[in-house]
Amino acid sequence: MFEALSDRLEGAWKKLRGQDKISESNIQDALREVRRALLEADVNLQVVKQFVADVQEQAQGAEVVQGVSPDQQFIKIVHDELVGLMGETNVPLAEVEELPTVVLMAGLQGTGKTTASAKLALHLRKQSRNCLMIAADVYRPAAIDQLMTLGKQIDVPVFQLGADAKPLDIVRQGLDQAKADGINTVIIDTAGRLQIDPQMMAELAQIKELSQPHEVLLVVDAMTGQEAANLTRTFHQEIGITGAILTKLDGDTRGGAALSVRQISGQPIKFVGVGEKVEALQPFYPDRMASRILGMGDVLTLVEKAQEEVDFAEAEKLQKKILEAQFDFDDFLKQMRLLKNMGSLGGIMKMIPGMNKLSGDQLEHGEAQLKRAESMINSMTRQERKQPDLLAGSPSRRRRIAQGAGMKLDDVSKLVSDFQKMRTLMQQMGQGQFPGMGGMGGM
Ligand code: GDP
Repeated sequence: MFEALSDRLEGAWKKLRGQDKISESNIQDALREVRRALLEADVNLQVVKQFVADVQEQAQGAEVVQGVSPDQQFIKIVHDELVGLMGETNVPLAEVEELPTVVLMAGLQGTGKTTASAKLALHLRKQSRNCLMIAADVYRPAAIDQLMTLGKQIDVPVFQLGADAKPLDIVRQGLDQAKADGINTVIIDTAGRLQIDPQMMAELAQIKELSQPHEVLLVVDAMTGQEAANLTRTFHQEIGITGAILTKLDGDTRGGAALSVRQISGQPIKFVGVGEKVEALQPFYPDRMASRILGMGDVLTLVEKAQEEVDFAEAEKLQKKILEAQFDFDDFLKQMRLLKNMGSLGGIMKMIPGMNKLSGDQLEHGEAQLKRAESMINSMTRQERKQPDLLAGSPSRRRRIAQGAGMKLDDVSKLVSDFQKMRTLMQQMGQGQFPGMGGMGGM
Protein backbone atom coordinates (compact mmCIF):
# COMPACT_ATOMS: atom_id res chain seq x y z
CA MET A 1 0.00 0.00 0.00
CA PHE A 2 0.98 3.64 -0.38
CA GLU A 3 3.65 2.75 -2.91
CA ALA A 4 2.87 5.62 -5.21
CA LEU A 5 2.96 8.08 -2.33
CA SER A 6 6.25 6.69 -1.04
CA ASP A 7 7.79 6.89 -4.49
CA ARG A 8 6.61 10.44 -4.95
CA LEU A 9 8.01 11.51 -1.62
CA GLU A 10 11.39 10.16 -2.67
CA GLY A 11 11.38 13.02 -5.13
CA ALA A 12 11.19 15.43 -2.21
CA TRP A 13 14.19 13.91 -0.43
CA LYS A 14 16.18 13.95 -3.63
CA LYS A 15 15.84 17.71 -3.80
CA LEU A 16 17.85 17.95 -0.60
CA ARG A 17 20.38 15.23 -1.22
CA GLY A 18 23.91 16.55 -1.54
CA GLN A 19 23.10 19.89 0.15
CA ASP A 20 24.99 20.72 3.33
CA LYS A 21 22.01 21.99 5.21
CA ILE A 22 18.35 22.83 4.95
CA SER A 23 17.99 26.43 3.82
CA GLU A 24 15.12 28.67 2.92
CA SER A 25 15.83 28.31 -0.77
CA ASN A 26 16.46 24.59 -1.10
CA ILE A 27 13.49 23.70 1.08
CA GLN A 28 11.02 25.19 -1.39
CA ASP A 29 11.57 22.53 -4.04
CA ALA A 30 11.32 19.77 -1.47
CA LEU A 31 8.10 21.21 -0.06
CA ARG A 32 6.61 21.48 -3.52
CA GLU A 33 7.29 17.78 -4.02
CA VAL A 34 5.68 16.89 -0.71
CA ARG A 35 2.63 18.92 -1.65
CA ARG A 36 2.37 17.24 -5.03
CA ALA A 37 2.86 13.79 -3.51
CA LEU A 38 0.04 14.30 -1.03
CA LEU A 39 -2.35 15.75 -3.58
CA GLU A 40 -1.73 12.82 -5.86
CA ALA A 41 -2.39 10.50 -2.95
CA ASP A 42 -5.82 12.08 -2.76
CA VAL A 43 -5.29 13.88 0.49
CA ASN A 44 -7.75 16.71 0.96
CA LEU A 45 -6.41 20.07 -0.26
CA GLN A 46 -7.05 21.87 2.98
CA VAL A 47 -5.20 19.14 4.88
CA VAL A 48 -2.28 19.32 2.46
CA LYS A 49 -1.95 23.10 2.78
CA GLN A 50 -1.84 23.00 6.53
CA PHE A 51 0.56 20.09 6.50
CA VAL A 52 3.03 21.71 4.14
CA ALA A 53 2.95 24.93 6.15
CA ASP A 54 3.70 22.97 9.35
CA VAL A 55 6.56 21.08 7.74
CA GLN A 56 8.02 24.33 6.42
CA GLU A 57 7.93 25.90 9.83
CA GLN A 58 9.65 22.93 11.43
CA ALA A 59 12.25 22.63 8.71
CA GLN A 60 13.22 26.27 8.86
CA GLY A 61 13.63 26.17 12.59
CA ALA A 62 15.56 22.89 12.56
CA GLU A 63 19.03 22.82 14.03
CA VAL A 64 21.75 21.12 12.03
CA VAL A 65 22.37 17.66 13.48
CA GLN A 66 25.89 16.42 13.02
CA GLY A 67 26.11 13.17 11.15
CA VAL A 68 22.68 13.54 9.59
CA SER A 69 22.22 14.82 6.07
CA PRO A 70 19.56 17.44 5.27
CA ASP A 71 17.45 14.98 3.33
CA GLN A 72 17.45 12.58 6.27
CA GLN A 73 16.59 15.40 8.60
CA PHE A 74 13.78 16.51 6.33
CA ILE A 75 12.37 12.97 6.20
CA LYS A 76 12.30 12.95 9.97
CA ILE A 77 10.47 16.28 10.06
CA VAL A 78 7.88 15.08 7.53
CA HIS A 79 7.50 11.90 9.53
CA ASP A 80 6.94 13.70 12.80
CA GLU A 81 4.39 15.98 11.18
CA LEU A 82 2.62 12.96 9.67
CA VAL A 83 2.46 11.39 13.10
CA GLY A 84 1.08 14.63 14.52
CA LEU A 85 -1.47 14.80 11.75
CA MET A 86 -2.69 11.32 12.52
CA GLY A 87 -2.78 11.89 16.26
CA GLU A 88 0.52 10.92 17.94
CA THR A 89 -0.55 7.75 19.74
CA ASN A 90 -2.98 4.90 19.48
CA VAL A 91 -6.30 5.69 21.12
CA PRO A 92 -7.90 2.54 22.43
CA LEU A 93 -11.58 1.82 22.40
CA ALA A 94 -13.50 3.26 25.33
CA GLU A 95 -14.48 0.96 28.16
CA VAL A 96 -16.87 2.14 30.85
CA GLU A 97 -17.37 0.78 34.31
CA GLU A 98 -21.11 0.57 34.24
CA LEU A 99 -21.78 -2.10 31.61
CA PRO A 100 -22.22 -2.22 28.77
CA THR A 101 -19.90 -0.05 26.72
CA VAL A 102 -21.91 0.87 23.62
CA VAL A 103 -20.25 1.20 20.23
CA LEU A 104 -22.26 2.58 17.32
CA MET A 105 -20.96 1.77 13.86
CA ALA A 106 -21.71 4.29 11.14
CA GLY A 107 -20.76 4.65 7.51
CA LEU A 108 -21.78 4.24 3.92
CA GLN A 109 -22.85 0.94 2.43
CA GLY A 110 -20.05 -1.29 1.26
CA THR A 111 -17.37 0.36 3.35
CA GLY A 112 -17.04 -2.76 5.48
CA LYS A 113 -19.22 -1.81 8.42
CA THR A 114 -20.71 -5.23 9.06
CA THR A 115 -17.35 -6.93 8.65
CA ALA A 116 -15.75 -4.36 10.95
CA SER A 117 -18.40 -4.99 13.62
CA ALA A 118 -17.45 -8.65 13.73
CA LYS A 119 -13.74 -7.90 13.56
CA LEU A 120 -14.08 -5.55 16.49
CA ALA A 121 -16.08 -8.09 18.49
CA LEU A 122 -13.38 -10.69 17.92
CA HIS A 123 -10.66 -8.21 18.87
CA LEU A 124 -12.46 -7.40 22.12
CA ARG A 125 -13.20 -11.01 22.88
CA LYS A 126 -9.46 -11.65 22.77
CA GLN A 127 -9.17 -9.06 25.54
CA SER A 128 -11.79 -10.97 27.50
CA ARG A 129 -14.48 -8.41 26.75
CA ASN A 130 -17.64 -10.32 25.88
CA CYS A 131 -19.73 -8.68 23.21
CA LEU A 132 -23.20 -8.63 21.75
CA MET A 133 -23.69 -7.43 18.20
CA ILE A 134 -26.99 -5.79 17.33
CA ALA A 135 -28.14 -6.18 13.73
CA ALA A 136 -29.85 -2.85 13.05
CA ASP A 137 -29.06 -2.64 9.35
CA VAL A 138 -32.49 -3.44 7.95
CA TYR A 139 -31.79 -1.54 4.75
CA ARG A 140 -29.24 -3.78 3.07
CA PRO A 141 -31.06 -7.11 2.56
CA ALA A 142 -28.18 -9.47 3.37
CA ALA A 143 -26.69 -7.49 6.26
CA ILE A 144 -28.50 -9.33 9.06
CA ASP A 145 -27.66 -12.79 7.71
CA GLN A 146 -24.10 -11.70 7.18
CA LEU A 147 -23.77 -10.56 10.78
CA MET A 148 -25.36 -13.79 12.04
CA THR A 149 -22.91 -15.86 10.03
CA LEU A 150 -19.95 -13.83 11.24
CA GLY A 151 -21.24 -14.06 14.83
CA LYS A 152 -21.34 -17.84 14.61
CA GLN A 153 -17.89 -17.90 13.16
CA ILE A 154 -16.36 -15.94 16.03
CA ASP A 155 -18.71 -17.23 18.68
CA VAL A 156 -20.24 -13.86 19.53
CA PRO A 157 -24.04 -13.56 19.98
CA VAL A 158 -26.09 -11.43 17.59
CA PHE A 159 -29.35 -9.74 18.53
CA GLN A 160 -31.81 -9.38 15.64
CA LEU A 161 -35.53 -9.01 14.97
CA GLY A 162 -35.44 -9.56 11.23
CA ALA A 163 -35.48 -7.01 8.43
CA ASP A 164 -39.08 -5.87 8.98
CA ALA A 165 -38.53 -4.53 12.47
CA LYS A 166 -37.78 -0.88 13.14
CA PRO A 167 -34.11 -0.15 13.86
CA LEU A 168 -35.00 1.74 17.05
CA ASP A 169 -36.94 -1.24 18.40
CA ILE A 170 -34.10 -3.58 17.57
CA VAL A 171 -31.58 -1.39 19.35
CA ARG A 172 -33.79 -0.84 22.41
CA GLN A 173 -34.46 -4.53 22.90
CA GLY A 174 -30.89 -5.46 22.07
CA LEU A 175 -29.57 -3.14 24.76
CA ASP A 176 -32.00 -4.57 27.31
CA GLN A 177 -30.81 -8.03 26.49
CA ALA A 178 -27.16 -6.96 26.81
CA LYS A 179 -27.81 -5.50 30.24
CA ALA A 180 -29.64 -8.62 31.36
CA ASP A 181 -26.79 -10.82 30.15
CA GLY A 182 -24.00 -8.73 31.69
CA ILE A 183 -22.44 -8.06 28.31
CA ASN A 184 -19.26 -5.96 28.38
CA THR A 185 -19.57 -4.27 24.99
CA VAL A 186 -22.45 -3.85 22.56
CA ILE A 187 -21.67 -3.22 18.91
CA ILE A 188 -24.51 -1.79 16.87
CA ASP A 189 -24.33 -2.35 13.11
CA THR A 190 -26.42 0.32 11.42
CA ALA A 191 -27.67 0.85 7.88
CA GLY A 192 -25.61 2.71 5.32
CA ARG A 193 -26.48 4.09 1.90
CA LEU A 194 -24.46 4.43 -1.24
CA GLN A 195 -24.23 8.15 -0.59
CA ILE A 196 -24.89 10.47 2.26
CA ASP A 197 -28.63 10.50 2.64
CA PRO A 198 -30.89 12.51 4.98
CA GLN A 199 -32.95 9.50 5.95
CA MET A 200 -29.87 7.52 6.94
CA MET A 201 -28.57 10.45 8.97
CA ALA A 202 -31.89 10.92 10.72
CA GLU A 203 -32.06 7.25 11.63
CA LEU A 204 -28.51 7.27 12.94
CA ALA A 205 -29.20 10.36 15.02
CA GLN A 206 -32.20 8.64 16.58
CA ILE A 207 -30.26 5.49 17.34
CA LYS A 208 -27.54 7.60 18.87
CA GLU A 209 -30.04 9.47 21.02
CA LEU A 210 -31.56 6.22 22.20
CA SER A 211 -28.41 4.20 22.81
CA GLN A 212 -26.18 6.97 24.19
CA PRO A 213 -23.08 5.29 22.77
CA HIS A 214 -19.63 5.70 24.29
CA GLU A 215 -18.14 5.35 20.85
CA VAL A 216 -19.46 6.34 17.44
CA LEU A 217 -17.05 4.83 14.96
CA LEU A 218 -17.18 5.98 11.38
CA VAL A 219 -16.19 3.18 9.04
CA VAL A 220 -14.23 4.69 6.17
CA ASP A 221 -13.10 2.84 3.08
CA ALA A 222 -9.44 3.74 2.52
CA MET A 223 -9.96 3.52 -1.22
CA THR A 224 -12.29 6.53 -1.25
CA GLY A 225 -9.50 9.12 -1.07
CA GLN A 226 -10.73 12.72 -1.31
CA GLU A 227 -14.30 11.70 -0.66
CA ALA A 228 -13.29 10.42 2.78
CA ALA A 229 -12.72 13.99 3.89
CA ASN A 230 -16.25 15.13 2.95
CA LEU A 231 -17.76 12.03 4.44
CA THR A 232 -15.93 12.50 7.71
CA ARG A 233 -16.93 16.14 7.89
CA THR A 234 -20.61 15.43 7.29
CA PHE A 235 -20.85 12.51 9.70
CA HIS A 236 -18.99 14.44 12.35
CA GLN A 237 -21.11 17.54 11.98
CA GLU A 238 -24.42 15.72 11.89
CA ILE A 239 -23.87 12.79 14.22
CA GLY A 240 -20.64 13.44 16.09
CA ILE A 241 -18.09 10.68 15.85
CA THR A 242 -15.53 9.61 18.44
CA GLY A 243 -13.22 7.82 16.05
CA ALA A 244 -12.92 5.92 12.81
CA ILE A 245 -12.09 2.51 11.46
CA LEU A 246 -10.23 2.68 8.18
CA THR A 247 -10.95 -0.40 6.10
CA LYS A 248 -9.41 -2.02 3.04
CA LEU A 249 -5.96 -0.74 3.81
CA ASP A 250 -4.66 -3.98 2.33
CA GLY A 251 -5.80 -2.80 -1.09
CA ASP A 252 -4.11 -0.52 -3.52
CA THR A 253 -5.00 2.62 -1.64
CA ARG A 254 -3.39 5.93 -2.34
CA GLY A 255 -3.46 6.85 1.30
CA GLY A 256 -5.44 10.07 1.29
CA ALA A 257 -8.13 8.94 3.71
CA ALA A 258 -5.62 7.89 6.35
CA LEU A 259 -4.30 11.43 6.49
CA SER A 260 -7.54 13.35 6.29
CA VAL A 261 -9.77 11.80 8.93
CA ARG A 262 -8.26 13.24 12.05
CA GLN A 263 -7.42 16.63 10.65
CA ILE A 264 -11.00 17.04 9.49
CA SER A 265 -12.82 15.71 12.55
CA GLY A 266 -10.29 16.00 15.35
CA GLN A 267 -11.11 12.36 16.10
CA PRO A 268 -8.59 9.54 15.78
CA ILE A 269 -8.53 6.50 13.56
CA LYS A 270 -8.71 3.71 16.13
CA PHE A 271 -8.43 0.61 13.98
CA VAL A 272 -7.55 -0.40 10.47
CA GLY A 273 -9.00 -3.24 8.44
CA VAL A 274 -6.40 -5.09 6.45
CA GLY A 275 -8.30 -7.91 4.81
CA GLU A 276 -11.61 -9.65 4.41
CA LYS A 277 -11.07 -12.16 7.21
CA VAL A 278 -12.44 -11.46 10.70
CA GLU A 279 -8.94 -11.49 12.14
CA ALA A 280 -7.84 -8.72 9.79
CA LEU A 281 -8.18 -5.79 12.17
CA GLN A 282 -5.31 -3.90 13.79
CA PRO A 283 -5.15 -1.05 16.26
CA PHE A 284 -4.01 2.08 14.47
CA TYR A 285 -0.58 3.46 15.37
CA PRO A 286 0.19 6.85 13.79
CA ASP A 287 3.96 6.40 13.97
CA ARG A 288 3.91 3.02 12.27
CA MET A 289 1.58 4.33 9.62
CA ALA A 290 3.81 7.34 8.99
CA SER A 291 6.83 5.08 8.55
CA ARG A 292 4.90 2.95 6.10
CA ILE A 293 3.74 5.98 4.17
CA LEU A 294 7.28 7.25 3.91
CA GLY A 295 8.36 3.81 2.75
CA MET A 296 11.84 4.72 3.83
CA GLY A 297 12.67 1.65 5.78
CA ASP A 298 13.54 3.66 8.78
CA VAL A 299 15.61 6.73 8.20
CA LEU A 300 13.91 8.12 11.25
CA THR A 301 15.42 5.59 13.57
CA LEU A 302 18.74 6.37 11.97
CA VAL A 303 18.33 10.05 12.69
CA GLU A 304 17.13 9.42 16.21
CA LYS A 305 19.95 7.05 16.90
CA ALA A 306 22.47 9.43 15.43
CA GLN A 307 21.13 12.07 17.75
CA GLU A 308 21.14 9.82 20.78
CA GLU A 309 23.74 7.17 20.57
CA VAL A 310 26.62 7.89 18.30
CA ASP A 311 29.54 9.40 20.02
CA PHE A 312 30.60 12.16 17.72
CA ALA A 313 33.71 12.98 19.69
CA GLU A 314 34.79 9.46 18.89
CA ALA A 315 33.91 9.87 15.24
CA GLU A 316 35.93 13.06 15.07
CA LYS A 317 38.93 11.40 16.64
CA LEU A 318 38.71 8.69 14.01
CA GLN A 319 38.50 11.24 11.27
CA LYS A 320 41.62 12.96 12.53
CA LYS A 321 43.48 9.66 12.60
CA ILE A 322 42.40 8.91 9.08
CA LEU A 323 43.73 12.22 7.90
CA GLU A 324 47.01 11.66 9.67
CA ALA A 325 47.31 8.17 8.22
CA GLN A 326 47.29 6.64 11.70
CA PHE A 327 44.12 4.64 11.28
CA ASP A 328 44.80 1.14 12.61
CA PHE A 329 42.95 -2.07 13.34
CA ASP A 330 41.88 -0.80 16.76
CA ASP A 331 40.23 2.15 15.08
CA PHE A 332 38.67 -0.16 12.59
CA LEU A 333 37.15 -2.18 15.42
CA LYS A 334 35.90 0.97 17.10
CA GLN A 335 34.35 2.09 13.88
CA MET A 336 32.61 -1.24 13.51
CA ARG A 337 31.33 -1.02 17.06
CA LEU A 338 30.04 2.46 16.41
CA LEU A 339 28.11 1.04 13.52
CA LYS A 340 26.87 -1.83 15.64
CA ASN A 341 25.67 0.60 18.27
CA MET A 342 23.39 1.96 15.63
CA GLY A 343 21.78 -1.43 15.20
CA SER A 344 22.58 -4.35 13.00
CA LEU A 345 24.14 -3.62 9.66
CA GLY A 346 21.01 -4.88 7.94
CA GLY A 347 18.98 -2.47 10.02
CA ILE A 348 21.25 0.43 9.19
CA MET A 349 21.29 -0.25 5.48
CA LYS A 350 17.52 -0.40 5.42
CA MET A 351 17.39 3.00 7.02
CA ILE A 352 19.34 4.65 4.27
CA PRO A 353 17.25 5.99 1.40
CA GLY A 354 17.84 4.01 -1.76
CA MET A 355 19.59 1.24 0.17
CA ASN A 356 16.37 -0.21 1.51
CA LYS A 357 15.97 -2.16 -1.68
CA LEU A 358 19.05 -4.30 -1.00
CA SER A 359 18.10 -7.93 -0.71
CA GLY A 360 18.16 -9.72 2.61
CA ASP A 361 20.98 -11.91 1.31
CA GLN A 362 23.18 -8.99 0.47
CA LEU A 363 22.63 -7.51 3.88
CA GLU A 364 23.25 -10.73 5.72
CA HIS A 365 26.40 -11.25 3.76
CA GLY A 366 27.73 -7.82 4.76
CA GLU A 367 26.95 -8.44 8.37
CA ALA A 368 28.57 -11.89 8.40
CA GLN A 369 31.69 -10.39 6.87
CA LEU A 370 31.89 -7.78 9.57
CA LYS A 371 31.66 -10.47 12.23
CA ARG A 372 34.46 -12.45 10.62
CA ALA A 373 36.66 -9.37 10.43
CA GLU A 374 36.00 -8.70 14.06
CA SER A 375 37.05 -12.17 15.13
CA MET A 376 40.26 -11.92 13.09
CA ILE A 377 41.12 -8.57 14.63
CA ASN A 378 40.47 -10.01 18.05
CA SER A 379 43.13 -12.64 17.37
CA MET A 380 45.80 -10.01 16.64
CA THR A 381 48.31 -8.86 19.22
CA ARG A 382 48.17 -5.28 20.44
CA GLN A 383 51.18 -4.42 18.39
CA GLU A 384 49.74 -5.93 15.22
CA ARG A 385 46.57 -3.94 15.59
CA LYS A 386 48.51 -0.74 16.01
CA GLN A 387 50.81 -1.49 13.10
CA PRO A 388 48.85 -3.19 10.36
CA ASP A 389 51.92 -3.14 8.12
CA LEU A 390 53.55 -5.78 10.33
CA LEU A 391 50.98 -8.22 9.00
CA ALA A 392 51.39 -7.36 5.36
CA GLY A 393 55.01 -8.53 5.52
CA SER A 394 54.58 -11.65 7.66
CA PRO A 395 52.70 -14.75 6.50
CA SER A 396 53.51 -16.47 9.79
CA ARG A 397 51.73 -13.76 11.79
CA ARG A 398 48.75 -14.02 9.45
CA ARG A 399 48.73 -17.81 9.78
CA ARG A 400 48.71 -17.54 13.58
CA ILE A 401 45.79 -15.12 13.44
CA ALA A 402 43.90 -17.37 11.04
CA GLN A 403 44.32 -20.28 13.46
CA GLY A 404 43.24 -18.18 16.41
CA ALA A 405 40.10 -17.02 14.61
CA GLY A 406 39.33 -20.40 13.10
CA MET A 407 39.78 -19.11 9.58
CA LYS A 408 42.00 -19.61 6.56
CA LEU A 409 45.25 -17.84 5.84
CA ASP A 410 43.66 -16.37 2.73
CA ASP A 411 40.91 -14.79 4.79
CA VAL A 412 43.42 -12.94 6.94
CA SER A 413 45.50 -11.92 3.93
CA LYS A 414 42.40 -10.54 2.28
CA LEU A 415 41.40 -8.62 5.41
CA VAL A 416 44.85 -7.05 5.60
CA SER A 417 44.92 -6.06 1.96
CA ASP A 418 41.34 -4.76 2.05
CA PHE A 419 42.19 -2.78 5.14
CA GLN A 420 45.17 -1.20 3.46
CA LYS A 421 43.15 -0.31 0.38
CA MET A 422 40.39 1.12 2.52
CA ARG A 423 42.86 3.19 4.52
CA THR A 424 44.32 4.71 1.38
CA LEU A 425 40.87 5.41 0.02
CA MET A 426 39.71 7.02 3.24
CA GLN A 427 42.78 9.21 3.34
CA GLN A 428 42.05 10.41 -0.14
CA MET A 429 38.46 11.08 0.71
CA GLY A 430 39.43 12.80 3.93
CA GLN A 431 41.74 15.08 2.02
CA GLY A 432 38.94 15.96 -0.30
CA GLN A 433 40.43 14.25 -3.33
CA PHE A 434 37.03 12.94 -4.26
CA PRO A 435 35.11 16.15 -4.67
CA GLY A 436 31.60 16.06 -3.34
CA MET A 437 32.03 12.98 -1.22
CA GLY A 438 33.02 14.79 1.95
CA GLY A 439 34.94 13.32 4.86
CA MET A 440 33.96 10.55 7.18
CA GLY A 441 32.06 12.79 9.56
CA GLY A 442 28.76 11.54 8.28
CA MET A 443 29.55 7.87 8.50
P1 GDP B 1 -21.10 -2.80 4.79
O1 GDP B 1 -22.10 -2.60 3.69
O2 GDP B 1 -20.48 -1.50 5.19
O3 GDP B 1 -21.63 -3.54 5.96
O4 GDP B 1 -19.89 -3.63 4.15
P2 GDP B 1 -19.45 -5.15 4.33
O5 GDP B 1 -18.99 -5.40 5.72
O6 GDP B 1 -20.47 -6.06 3.77
O7 GDP B 1 -18.15 -5.15 3.40
C1 GDP B 1 -18.19 -4.88 2.02
C2 GDP B 1 -17.10 -5.68 1.32
O8 GDP B 1 -15.84 -5.21 1.68
C3 GDP B 1 -17.12 -7.15 1.65
O9 GDP B 1 -16.86 -7.88 0.47
C4 GDP B 1 -16.00 -7.31 2.63
O10 GDP B 1 -15.43 -8.59 2.58
C5 GDP B 1 -15.03 -6.27 2.13
N1 GDP B 1 -14.14 -5.77 3.19
C6 GDP B 1 -14.46 -5.25 4.39
N2 GDP B 1 -13.37 -4.86 5.08
C7 GDP B 1 -12.31 -5.14 4.29
C8 GDP B 1 -10.88 -4.97 4.44
O11 GDP B 1 -10.34 -4.46 5.43
N3 GDP B 1 -10.11 -5.39 3.38
C9 GDP B 1 -10.65 -5.93 2.27
N4 GDP B 1 -9.82 -6.30 1.29
N5 GDP B 1 -11.97 -6.10 2.11
C10 GDP B 1 -12.81 -5.72 3.10
